[in-house]
Amino acid sequence: MDKLISLCKRRGFIFPSSEIYGGIANGWDYGPLGVELKNNIKRAWWKRFVHGRDDMVGIDAALIMNPKVWEASGHLKHFTDPLVDCKKCKNRFRADEIGAKCPNCGGELTQSRQFNMMLKTFLGPVEDESAVVYFRPETAQAMFVDFKQVLQTTRKKIPFGMAQTGKAFRNEITPGNFIFRTREFEQMEIEYFVQEKDWKKYYEVWLDEMKQWCAFLGLKDSELYFHEIPDGERAHYSKRTIDIEYKYPFGQKELYGLAYRTDFDLQNHMKSSGADLNYEDPASKEKFVPHVIEPTWGVDRSVLVTLLSAYNEEQAPTSEKGESDMRVVLKIPKALAPIQVAVLPLSKKEELSKVAQKIAKDLREHFVVEYDETQSIGRRYRRQDEIGTPYCVTVDFDSLDDKAVTVRDRDTMKQERIKIDELDDYIIEKFKNEQ
Ligand code: ATP
Repeated sequence: MDKLISLCKRRGFIFPSSEIYGGIANGWDYGPLGVELKNNIKRAWWKRFVHGRDDMVGIDAALIMNPKVWEASGHLKHFTDPLVDCKKCKNRFRADEIGAKCPNCGGELTQSRQFNMMLKTFLGPVEDESAVVYFRPETAQAMFVDFKQVLQTTRKKIPFGMAQTGKAFRNEITPGNFIFRTREFEQMEIEYFVQEKDWKKYYEVWLDEMKQWCAFLGLKDSELYFHEIPDGERAHYSKRTIDIEYKYPFGQKELYGLAYRTDFDLQNHMKSSGADLNYEDPASKEKFVPHVIEPTWGVDRSVLVTLLSAYNEEQAPTSEKGESDMRVVLKIPKALAPIQVAVLPLSKKEELSKVAQKIAKDLREHFVVEYDETQSIGRRYRRQDEIGTPYCVTVDFDSLDDKAVTVRDRDTMKQERIKIDELDDYIIEKFKNEQ
């Protein structure tokens, strides 16, 4: 884990937020490579689950909602974690994560009490009770509150789903483990509306979808565990939950969740707002409140596990005959790599850089390209391996005569000589075969 965190910082994937001021409470910023990886994951998710299907639509709702939403959803009452204080060193812990003594100093702990994780602020110029609002702790609720609007405008028939990605905030007691648990994070969520009698069937359908998504990120079956949450331990709204857990270096913990939320949310919003959130079957005219299957994905945890599973250290030959050294390579699924092609002229000489820059410019029409002409070619390959770039295009002095370049594959390190004219199509084809 430490190696990955240091690579992320060194190469500009992810680094501590506001670091020049000493950082802030396990906050992290995504740098130039991190933002590409994160956006690629979100885009792939949207393409797969919204654009790729006829039964899904997306929304992008306001982050601060009417506080009555959180009253109706039960969050103001139930969205809590058990908290204990150490009587000696005054540190705070989640009671369900520690034993009988303080893990910091061995001191005695207070009785556990419930701590609400909603992050509060004031909206408007007067800071009184009537101005209190909350940053959403999940993206889900907007999809219930907007249910009628979306139904009317899209005329979707059940079963259908709504999707949303965006920030969520939780005043976590113990943020930590890099981007695993932060107070500000992103989610990708789906609320899938079904008839009550069909919930088991669609639960299995979505479980399968989530398994396929994990495979798409490059996660191995052996790194995952499907944890059926027993009665009494589920969230207040759920009748069945499976946590998809990942074997992180710091232990086996939640990656994603799949919950059967029943009609809990729509019923509560109906009662609380007075709006009619029934669905009317167009054929039978039967009216009912739909039940909901909710698959939920953390974006930051997706980035973390993609990086963890992609991280490899292996012996690789150097440019010196018969010698090898250790290379660090991020075998990120090629479709998700932050930089897709690196263009590397063998030397900085103008005759080469002119050709190489033209190649980079042309490739930029289809790919995210990095142009790099500093340092030895060996070091530049290692750098691209470390940031997971699938293809390196090397322009050498022969290129001036044979109008061809060398394309090196990140994973096999095999090199192929390709005509400059055919380069774009060649790489397009390579990426197609990866999907
Ligand atoms: P945990 O048990 O780890 O606290 P949770 O069960 O509270 O998670 P959910 O409410 O199911 O989490 O949230 C859905 C998803 O959002 C999680 O599966 C996870 O990927 C992500 N997530 C939740 N809390 C955080 C957080 N504090 N930091 C980063 N991601 C989070």
